[in-house]
Amino acid sequence: MLSTLVLVAVANTGGAGVVPDAVSRTAEALRDAALADDTAYRLVEDLTTEVGPRLAGTRQEARARRWAVAALKKLGFQNRQITVEPFRMRTWVRGAERAAIVAPFPQPLVVTALGRSGSTGPRGMKGEVVVFRTLDALERAPAKAVRQKLVYIGHAMPKTQDGSSYGYFGRARFVGPSIAAKKGAKGVLIRSVGTHSHRLPHTGVTSWPDDVAPIPAIAVSPPDADQIERIADRGGPLTVSMTVTPRIVGTTESGNVVVDIEGREAKDEIVIIGGHLDSWDLGTGAVDDGAGVAIAAGALNLIRKMKLQPRRTIRLVMWGAEEVGLEGAKAYAERHKAELDRHVLGSESDFGAERIFRIHAHVSARGDAVVDEMLRLLAPLGVAPGTRGPAYTGGAGPDLTPLVRAGLPRFRLAQDGRDYFELHHTPDDTFDKIDPAALAQNVAVHAVFVWLAANTDVDFRPRQAPSADLSK
Ligand SMILES: [Zn+2]
Repeated sequence: MLSTLVLVAVANTGGAGVVPDAVSRTAEALRDAALADDTAYRLVEDLTTEVGPRLAGTRQEARARRWAVAALKKLGFQNRQITVEPFRMRTWVRGAERAAIVAPFPQPLVVTALGRSGSTGPRGMKGEVVVFRTLDALERAPAKAVRQKLVYIGHAMPKTQDGSSYGYFGRARFVGPSIAAKKGAKGVLIRSVGTHSHRLPHTGVTSWPDDVAPIPAIAVSPPDADQIERIADRGGPLTVSMTVTPRIVGTTESGNVVVDIEGREAKDEIVIIGGHLDSWDLGTGAVDDGAGVAIAAGALNLIRKMKLQPRRTIRLVMWGAEEVGLEGAKAYAERHKAELDRHVLGSESDFGAERIFRIHAHVSARGDAVVDEMLRLLAPLGVAPGTRGPAYTGGAGPDLTPLVRAGLPRFRLAQDGRDYFELHHTPDDTFDKIDPAALAQNVAVHAVFVWLAANTDVDFRPRQAPSADLSK
């Protein structure tokens, strides 16, 4: 066991005095061990093979929780370190799904229902399609243009390295169907929110405000979207038939799996990492988000295996029911509301399995010195500085959103996302897509991150700016 008791007075130039030398040396040892360790890779293999798809609230997701507890114990975590925190949720499941162009050029379409889509009933529906190339065009359209019709939304998403285009272009899925429903449309087709040209549709949740009844909402594959747009360009009415029969099965159980390595001196202070255990049902949830779960578990396992005890508690959460609306995140925030301010720093891995290329950090000025030390240790792994301090206003992974809203300081360990939206929410999200070396790099970055964060007394919360407002 490496002793961290004698380090207090030892400063390190990289960490500007806030990261003791021996803490840095241990982080370096964890980094190197991570690069040579295949635990995370084996965990994703096991999860995607032995459980497979794990739609939120279903028996498959419950099997994933049991798998997780067994896998953690097999690694050597103790019963007392593992807690399953159940919660209840309204559960949606997929039914039949098919669609076709009826006129002017009859042919089948490759489609899938969006999460929380309404049902057409088994007999399906047929209608004239009103084509909108952008979400803005739909928003501007008068209700009479779409009433009792099917709405098609294009809004094609370009590729970006950091995946930031998803926020803007993903809106076609997040809010497009409810905007169409409010205007009286009877069904919606969207171009899949993806960046490839394969004939694979992308599912993903769509949201319905309380005053909007769900209507059938499907995604067509990118080449099918091109086809619809080409036919629309030729003019004349375009008619589509579609049958989707998803349903709400009622209230069922989901849960978060929480694993702690308890802190030595400040066990009430929590550094939180994780990924989400649920996945969409079309693939086996390898890059979304078996990888994230495995990366965080791989990092925590190295600390356990090296018998290291951090100063602060390191908590791994394998979140439940992320995909269908952050149900696990909300349940956690509710259950832990008395200790939300004791979560001192967090980051979630939920953007695939490619290498981390940049680190953003929303932390205090003293916390920034920890970021410097982290970057020094991770530069050999190709990790570059990102946005720092309060200037970083982005998130830290979807499941940390309620904690971030409550003031959680955060890191975004930003993965290369150029290929993420080729696979995301498609049947093609499978284990073979994961590169073991890239996954190990992620584990190394997480191990360094949690070790530095959990072995300093730095308060990462940015202080309020002085009252003088410099912008005036
Ligand atoms: Zn995800």
